[in-house]
Amino acid sequence: MEETKTIESVWDYVLHDLQNHLGESAFKVWFSHFRPISFENFNLKIEVSSKFVKNWLEQKYLHLIQRVVKIHIPNVREVVLVVSKSPIDSLKQKSTTRKIKIFNYSSKISIFEVNPQTNLNPRYRFDNFVVGSSNELAFAAAQAVVNKPGLIHNPLFIYGPVGVGKTHLLQAIGNEIIKDRNNLRVRYTNTEQFTNELINSLKNKSIDEFKHKFREVDILILDDVHFLSGKAKAQEELFHTFNFLYDLGKQIVFSSDRPPALIPDIEERLRSRFEGGLVVDIQPPDFETRIAILKLKSQEKKVELDQWIYELIAEKIQKNIRELEGALNLLIFKMNYLEKLTRESVLKIVKEFNYEFYKRVTPKKIIQVVTEHFGLKEGDVLKRLRKREYVETRNIIIYFLREICQYSYSRIGEMLRKDHTTVLHSYEKVVEKMKDNPDFNQDLEIIRSKILENA
Ligand code: ADP
Ligand code: MG
Repeated sequence: MEETKTIESVWDYVLHDLQNHLGESAFKVWFSHFRPISFENFNLKIEVSSKFVKNWLEQKYLHLIQRVVKIHIPNVREVVLVVSKSPIDSLKQKSTTRKIKIFNYSSKISIFEVNPQTNLNPRYRFDNFVVGSSNELAFAAAQAVVNKPGLIHNPLFIYGPVGVGKTHLLQAIGNEIIKDRNNLRVRYTNTEQFTNELINSLKNKSIDEFKHKFREVDILILDDVHFLSGKAKAQEELFHTFNFLYDLGKQIVFSSDRPPALIPDIEERLRSRFEGGLVVDIQPPDFETRIAILKLKSQEKKVELDQWIYELIAEKIQKNIRELEGALNLLIFKMNYLEKLTRESVLKIVKEFNYEFYKRVTPKKIIQVVTEHFGLKEGDVLKRLRKREYVETRNIIIYFLREICQYSYSRIGEMLRKDHTTVLHSYEKVVEKMKDNPDFNQDLEIIRSKILENA
């Protein structure tokens, strides 16, 4: 059967796949201006933002790009990257040049979209949540909330470390409720979003709208409340929102990376609200649960792997289900298109997703890679000379010592013979510069890859 589509209409699938294989941050850095501009003689020209990006993509990802493009646009023979003249121009051209017919297109991938009313992502459901001993209590509590919102566990407070399924479970509660009871209004938000919206509404004098938004609901789901630590204004607002909803018998669900008693800098009255219903934890999954999760996720992708592969991944990645999933996705991709899987190649892939792997990076390696990247000598950089390029290089070293080695400011200070406030400022300078400087971001991303290479 032949189906006709335009390249424009499948491009999102290409991007989606690339993002899936590369992870969000690498994707953002390298593929921000990645657009098809012409298709002639089976050659697809794709525009990228700079010469620098073009070189990098050609070196590292051309093979991947070609594979992904050919999956979605089978009649492409060659992929050519070209540097865009200006991002503005390419935006203008967008809709005229991209209407190119392609054939034999089929894709089973569905892209989930966040529901604008509830802010819920439909991919998080009960039926794709694997239950094991590490999360069965939280799961049962979540079900009780769905069956009788506001009546049994109110609030429900779920805590656990990163990547164990808190967000999944919270959103599943919301999705299950709206599935067959569309008279109930659900709102999901994470605490960072809540705080930012509050700040904006104070700035724009639209606080009434803000209050309205979070009080006009039957179920309020607030993810990651540990983020409230030290944020007095947001705590106060949440306290009042909570009381308002609670008094009306509305259901509230919270998550956090630790139990209420251990969240620092938080008002007592709010802490006692958090503790006033049911507090349950989710632990990292045990081996059997990890295997079951891997099997479910590969089933969703219509792939079946040998048992030894599931076992190997589950053995190496123990704490974080997001990493488990990431490793599996990359593996499935490589299996389909790149190479035969051996124990060695599986291990290599797993390593990229394993936090343990970060731990193997030494400060020495960071210093060496960063100084080399800027063509400087280690000795000069560490001598604390005040020349601008040395200062900047040192700042970047500090940034990576924090990000990758997770050292404290004072520990970095001791290493580089600086006091810890100077180190803190250096770190913040880098973070600040990243905010509005894509070239700088790209540079950092390259350095990061170099640091992680052969670790
Ligand atoms: P947290 O919010 O605790 O950091 P998430 O809910 O974001 O973790 O989970 C990370 C990833 O792992 C998500 O893609 C989620 O769908 C998946 N996941 C977590 N727990 C399970 C589970 N029990 N069954 C299936 N998938 C899970
Ligand atoms: Mg989460």
